[in-house]
Amino acid sequence: LLQEEDLCGADRACIGGRRLQHLRQVLGSQTGDCLRVGLLNGPLGEGLIEQLDARQAVLSLRWSGQPPDELPVRLVLALPRPKVLGRVLQSVAALGVKQLVLVNSWRVDKSYWSSPLLQPAALRQQLLLGLEQGVDTRLPQILLRSRFKPFVEDELHDWCGAGTRLVAHPAAAAPCPAAQNGFLTLAIGPEGGFIPYEIEALQAQGFTAVHLGRRILRVETAVAFLLGRLSPG
Ligand code: SAM
Repeated sequence: LLQEEDLCGADRACIGGRRLQHLRQVLGSQTGDCLRVGLLNGPLGEGLIEQLDARQAVLSLRWSGQPPDELPVRLVLALPRPKVLGRVLQSVAALGVKQLVLVNSWRVDKSYWSSPLLQPAALRQQLLLGLEQGVDTRLPQILLRSRFKPFVEDELHDWCGAGTRLVAHPAAAAPCPAAQNGFLTLAIGPEGGFIPYEIEALQAQGFTAVHLGRRILRVETAVAFLLGRLSPG
């Protein structure tokens, strides 16, 4: 995945660092090889390696298409433990989610909020890895909300508008519906689950509580399950 700062002249990219190492050591690329490339928040295309040495790789670029459509999904996720957060961020980017809100909830361990992974550069790095995995270029928007009540009562209230709003809750009576058209807002709880007040606060904003079956899933599995099940086509 290329970024504006990698572009060096008309239709050329000069890359170094982690991606150069990846080219040389993981892919074993050589001059003359052709790679699939994307430009962050831009098109997809091909890059012909014109020069490759220990200092940099120079690619000649040909843009040929747009990335896959974004999923019209906003995911509201109780902040997971840092070890899980990295994987969730990568999946969210690889699956094309439009917006991820990391929110506090009663059962979120408060120490998670001081994780270095929440620094903007670290969040971005995980998302870029996910985009590379998904051969996509659209960076999801990430919001951090460290107070549940004002987020749900004020912001979420204003945002929801039309579209389906679901909160995954193992004790819910209703099963998760099948694929939905239109904008989806999905809420997923922390390892210990949402407390009753939080479920009620979400329901007051038009969320329907749904279960995902009798098995209790890890947060990252619940994210993949919901996106796979509810995304149209
Ligand atoms: N003991 C917790 C509870 O009862 O909520 C389990 C929490 S689970 C590890 C983490 C989150 O994933 C839950 O808050 C929920 O949003 C989602 N989840 C996992 N399995 C689920 C299921 N079978 N039905 C609905 N939601 C589920």
